Amino acid sequence: MIRTRFTLAALALASTLAFAQTDVHGVHLANMDKSVAPGDNWYEYANGTYLKNTPIPPDRTSISGFSTLADMVNLRVAAIIKDAADSHAAPGTDKRKIADLYASYMDEAALNAKGTAALAPHLKAVDAIHTRAELATALGHTLRADVDALNNTNYHTQNLFGLWVAPGFNDPDHYTTYFFQGGLTLPDQAFYTSDSAHMKTIREAYVKHAAAMFKLGGFDNPEARAKQVFELEAAIAKTHRPLAENEDIKKANNVWKMSDFAKNAPGLDWGAYFAAAGLAKQPDFIVWQPDAVTAEAALVASNSIDAWKNFIAFHLLEQYGAAVSTAMNDERFAFFGTTLSGATQQRPRDKRALALVNGVLSDAVGKLYAAQYFPAEDKARVEVMVKNLLTAFHARLEAVTWMAPETKSEALRKLGTLKVGIGYPDHFRSYAALEIKPDDLFGNLWRASEFEYRYNLARIGKPTDRAEWCMPPQLVNAVNLPLDNGLNFPAAIFGPPFFDAKAPDAVNYGAIGTVIGHEISHTFDSEGAAFDSQGKVRNWWTDADRKHFDDSIEALAKQYDTYAPFPDLHLNGHQTLGENIADLAGITASHDAWLASLHGKTAPVVDGLSGEQQFFLGYAQSEAGKSRENALRGQVATDPHSPSEYRADTVRNLDAWYAAFDVKPGQTLYLAPADRVHIW
Ligand SMILES: [Zn+2]
Repeated sequence: MIRTRFTLAALALASTLAFAQTDVHGVHLANMDKSVAPGDNWYEYANGTYLKNTPIPPDRTSISGFSTLADMVNLRVAAIIKDAADSHAAPGTDKRKIADLYASYMDEAALNAKGTAALAPHLKAVDAIHTRAELATALGHTLRADVDALNNTNYHTQNLFGLWVAPGFNDPDHYTTYFFQGGLTLPDQAFYTSDSAHMKTIREAYVKHAAAMFKLGGFDNPEARAKQVFELEAAIAKTHRPLAENEDIKKANNVWKMSDFAKNAPGLDWGAYFAAAGLAKQPDFIVWQPDAVTAEAALVASNSIDAWKNFIAFHLLEQYGAAVSTAMNDERFAFFGTTLSGATQQRPRDKRALALVNGVLSDAVGKLYAAQYFPAEDKARVEVMVKNLLTAFHARLEAVTWMAPETKSEALRKLGTLKVGIGYPDHFRSYAALEIKPDDLFGNLWRASEFEYRYNLARIGKPTDRAEWCMPPQLVNAVNLPLDNGLNFPAAIFGPPFFDAKAPDAVNYGAIGTVIGHEISHTFDSEGAAFDSQGKVRNWWTDADRKHFDDSIEALAKQYDTYAPFPDLHLNGHQTLGENIADLAGITASHDAWLASLHGKTAPVVDGLSGEQQFFLGYAQSEAGKSRENALRGQVATDPHSPSEYRADTVRNLDAWYAAFDVKPGQTLYLAPADRVHIW
C-alpha cells in the first residue's frame, strides 16, 4: 500500500505557528476538552480546545500539528536561504544556486516583463504539429520522471504518460523503468466521472479556468479550446485505473517489451514517442496500468490533431503559468487554491519561493539543514527507540501462531535486514549539471525539469544504490521503501508534536514511536507481503497465511467504512486500508516497545496523567488538525490515508486504551473485545 505516512497534499499547505511556541513538553493539557468523555469522542477529548481556538488561516486549506512543525522547519530553511544569499557564494556552488533560484522567484517585475514571451517558442513548436508522427514526438517530449508508485506515492501526471525509475520488481539490484497512465489536470478520475453535485460544480469551474488560461496565453477561441481539452481529459479519465486498484502490485507487474507497445496499444506512434523521450533503446518497461495505456493510445488516434495540440498547449500553460505572469499565477490560484481546496488567500510570495527552492534543490538545502538542525544526541535517542520498536515487532512476529514456519522465518529475515535511516543519508545529490540564473524563473523551471528527467534516465539499468534516500532531511514525513527494504525518517520529523527531547518517553512513544512502527508495519502489510527480504517481488506468503491476514484486515476495512465526515460522504475502508493497518500495527508495537523500555517500573505520573494516558494522548495530539470542507472531501476521494480524526480513533482497537480511560459499553467508540481488530 502507499508507503508514506502523510498525504503529500498536506505538505504544500503547511501552516502557521498557531500552537508551536510553548514551554509545554509532553501532553498539551490546554489543547484538550475534558468536558467530552474520551469514550464518546476521543479526538475532541484530546484536541477539542485546540480545534475550537485554532482558525485555518485564509491562505491554508488545513492546519495541524504536522503543518505547525513544517512551518518551524520552513523558518529554518528560510534562514538557510538568507544565509546563502548573504554569503555571496562562488558561481556554481550549491549556496549560489539556492540564492539565485530564490531570487528568480522573488523578482516578480522581471517575470512579468518577459511574460508569455518565455513560453512562446514552446507554444510555437506545438502549433507546428501537422502529422500524427509529429504529434507522437511532441507527446514524447512531455514525458518526465514525475510519478512514483511506492516511495513518495504519486500516481498523478498531467502529461499523457508518466515514468518512474526505481529498483525493478523482478530485479531489485538494478534500476528499471515503470510506465504509468496520465493526462489528467484534475487530481483524479473521480473528478471527471462522479455524479455528485460537488464534482459537477468543480467541473464547470474547471472549464472556465481552462478558457481563462488560454485567453491569458494569447489564444483565440479560448472557450472552444477549453471545452475540447476538458472532453479529451474526461475521455482519458474513463480509461484510468482507480486509486485502490493502483496499489495492487500483482496487477502492476506487467513487463512490456518495446515491440509490445505497438501491438498492445495501437494508435500512438511509439517509435517516435520513445525516441523523443530519450528511451529509444530501452528494451522493456513495467507497465503499471496496461488497460489505461492501451486505451489512451487509442484516444491519440481517435481524436483530432487539433484537440491534442490544445491538450499539450494547455498543460504547458498550467505547468509554467506561475513563471509566466502574475495574471496566470493568480488565475491558477483562483481555481486550484480556492475552488478546488477552499483557500481564500494565496501564500505570500516568499513562502512560495521557499517551497520552490526546497523542491528543486532539495538535497542542497537538506545537506545544510541536517548539519545545522539535527543534533547527535537527538539521533542517538531516536535510534534507541527504533531498536526497541524492532524488538517489539520481532517478538510479535515470533508469537504469531497462524503463519506457516517458512513465512515466519522470511518475515523475521526481512525485519533483520530492514535498513532504518534516521535523519539524513550518507551522501547527497550533486546539482553541478543544473544551471540556475537569478533572473530567469521560467528557464530555471524548464532546466530543472529536464535535469531531473536526465538524472533518472541515466540511472536506468545501473546497480541500485541502497544508501540512497527518497526524502530530503528538511521534509516532515517518513517513508517505507519496499524495493530497498528500507525506511527513511528525515531529520525534520523529529520535532513536536512527534518528538520532543524534553518530553516524557510515554509521549514520544505514543507520537513518533507510532510513526516509526507505522513505517515498519508497511514491511509486513498486504503490499509488504509482495516483496521479500531482498526487495524482490515474490509472494513469500502461503495461501493460508494470506487468507488469515485478509480475513482479519477485512474487519478493519468495515470499521473505517462506518466513518462519515459528512452525512453524504463515508470513508472507503479499502482505499485507506493499508494506512489504517499501519496505524494500528504501529501504535500496538510502539506500546509494547514503551512498556519494555520501562523495565518493569511504573512510568511517572505527569500533570495527573498516568504513563498509559500520556502514551495515548501523545498519539492523539500528534494527529490534531482540521481541514476546509472541500479539502477534506478531496482527501476522502483521493487519499490512501484516513482523515486525522479517524487515524486518532485507531486506539479503539487496543485493550490498554479502554483501561487507561475507563471506556465502557454504551459509549460511542466502545468496541466489544471480539470486535477489536488485532493484526499482529
Ligand atoms: Zn503509511
